[in-house]
Amino acid sequence: MEIDWEPPLPAGYNDLHRSFLQNFMAQGTLTLKQGKKLLADLKSKTTFEPVDPDTITLDQFTDAIRTAREAVEPLDYDIRYMRDQVRDERVWVFYNTQSDPASQMATVHSAEEVAYIKRLLDAMFETYNTPRMEVMAVDEGQALKVSRPSRQSMGNGHVNGANGEDAEGSQSATRGLKHSEVLALLSNLVAEGWLEKSRDGFYSLGTRALVELWSWLVATYNDEEEEWQHIKFCEACKEIVTHGQRCNNVDCTIRLHDVCEGNFWRTRPDRKCPKCQTEWDGSQFVGERAITSRSAFQRSRAGRRGRRSEVAEDAGEEEAED
Ligand SMILES: [Zn+2]
Ligand SMILES: [Zn+2]
Repeated sequence: MEIDWEPPLPAGYNDLHRSFLQNFMAQGTLTLKQGKKLLADLKSKTTFEPVDPDTITLDQFTDAIRTAREAVEPLDYDIRYMRDQVRDERVWVFYNTQSDPASQMATVHSAEEVAYIKRLLDAMFETYNTPRMEVMAVDEGQALKVSRPSRQSMGNGHVNGANGEDAEGSQSATRGLKHSEVLALLSNLVAEGWLEKSRDGFYSLGTRALVELWSWLVATYNDEEEEWQHIKFCEACKEIVTHGQRCNNVDCTIRLHDVCEGNFWRTRPDRKCPKCQTEWDGSQFVGERAITSRSAFQRSRAGRRGRRSEVAEDAGEEEAED
């Protein structure tokens, strides 16, 4: 027994670093703006004078991040940033490098809720993510549809089967959630930054979830044998694309984020797909616009607001019949 053992800490680790890390862990994510505000608040507590967040430099922020990473690295935690696909801002995420939804969510969500979240992920990345329609999002009606496990999924739960992380008994013991419980859970997941809810009412994975579940999503939903993968990456930045553009050639697997395409084309002689040379006109989408850009959805949005869910459903079924 090494009684004198002290955990290794980064050189110069102080109370400011400690408080920064504790706040970051509690929040899960930080934008640069939030990070500057946090550092300013912490500094003002030690100097007893207000500190203007704008006086905090990017260097000071990245230094705090670097020290925090060093401190948590031995515990299998890390911090990395990802550009938010919609808001086009960098988001730093504190995450467990050995990550799957069960271990991520188990501390704050019940086993029933975690089982529901797996069904929701299956809906996003399998049911509503096909070669023709890469929606990777669900509307409220679709989210409610998986509130209880289907008889089919009881037999071959993709998520449980693929990772083998759940005892077989827990799947069959799942009774599911009531609709009111699903709606409450969805709004909690949005508040926690796991899910995004769009203006048109679609739920998709937030930047936090994309960073935390990155390797789990790829291991669970992608099959190396296939040309078309459920999880695809931006040709420019190599991050996961759940909101973006796709090649006009339906058989081609090239995808780009909206926030990346400007720079991507600027360095090229023409707007042609780098793989299949098809003209790239930015009219084919990954994400909810695969549905919302369709005229049927737009008619429904303009007229029969209440029937939105059915239109999304029709689009899904149309696909399923192919
Ligand atoms: Zn990108
Ligand atoms: Zn192409």
